[in-house]
Amino acid sequence: MPEELRVLLIEDCEAHARMVELLLGRSTDPSFELTQTERLADAFRLIHDQPFDVALMDLGLPDSQGLDAVKRIRSAAPHLPIVVLTASNDEELALQSISHGAQEFLSKEMMVGHLLMRVIRHSIARQKQLISAQAQALTDELTGIANRRSFDMELQRRIAESQRSGIQFGAIMFDVDYFKKVNDVHGHEAGDEVLRGVAKILNELVRVTDLAARIGGEEFALIAPVVDVPELASIADRARQSIGGTQFDVPGASLQVTISAGVAMYTPDDDAQSVMRRADQALYQAKSQGRNRVVSAESAAASV
Ligand code: GH3
Ligand code: MG
Ligand code: MG
Ligand code: MG
Repeated sequence: MPEELRVLLIEDCEAHARMVELLLGRSTDPSFELTQTERLADAFRLIHDQPFDVALMDLGLPDSQGLDAVKRIRSAAPHLPIVVLTASNDEELALQSISHGAQEFLSKEMMVGHLLMRVIRHSIARQKQLISAQAQALTDELTGIANRRSFDMELQRRIAESQRSGIQFGAIMFDVDYFKKVNDVHGHEAGDEVLRGVAKILNELVRVTDLAARIGGEEFALIAPVVDVPELASIADRARQSIGGTQFDVPGASLQVTISAGVAMYTPDDDAQSVMRRADQALYQAKSQGRNRVVSAESAAASV
């Protein structure tokens, strides 16, 4: 824990605010840097402008009442630990605040120094645990890149964004060619090592706006905001060339693999399934045309 914790106090009652200030002011290990605001709107501005380690918030504010404030702070600052300060000993509301994103609550009547410190420390520890569990749930264990769940979430996000603001994007499906042979000849461990290598190349190739994920055994996918098929196909082809040109070192051997790709642009008629289905059909065409190539959904549709 750092020696100084930056606390945002969202509290409109002057007496309670002074009490918190007094209690925190006595502590030296850690010490606290307190920023107080009376209004939720100002809290948003502060959160946006500077980092805080924890927020302490009252549920009755001049511009917001009850749990709605917790929900809104949570969505404005997903990583910020929140401690709700309840006015009366209202266990029910306090418990509800937890399911709306708060980590801890403390009744103002029960507020003494050591209790407040403990609740603050606890809220920070809990939130850290939660963030790390969330990150883990979105990571592929074998390769360390995004997993299928993460990919699906990004796809939904891109679709919503495209419908809202017309930002175009496309999806690429990759599948390693004859991968079964790698396992059969060199063993499953060697296969795993190749998958890690392929994932690393894809992950290094993507721009910050793109997402590369492992979505199945030896299948990978990528989402990128691009405007047309040639732009999308060129990303896929760069990946294909880079992977095909790499020697993957595994115990006792140095291997080369190739990868096939199918690409599809999202259209306003698509949903998540249909755009991925078209990319998959294009991938199937790439396989049947001989592998180690990129095929677009448009040309795949034209050739069947
Ligand atoms: P194709 O060119 O048609 O894609 O041929 P392929 O051999 O790559 O395709 P197939 O679907 O027949 O085999 C995929 C293989 O991938 C079979 C499976 O054992 C292997 N595989 C799936 N997941 C993993 C994994 O996590 N680690 C390893 N080492 N192998 C895996
Ligand atoms: Mg109040
Ligand atoms: Mg496969
Ligand atoms: Mg394969």
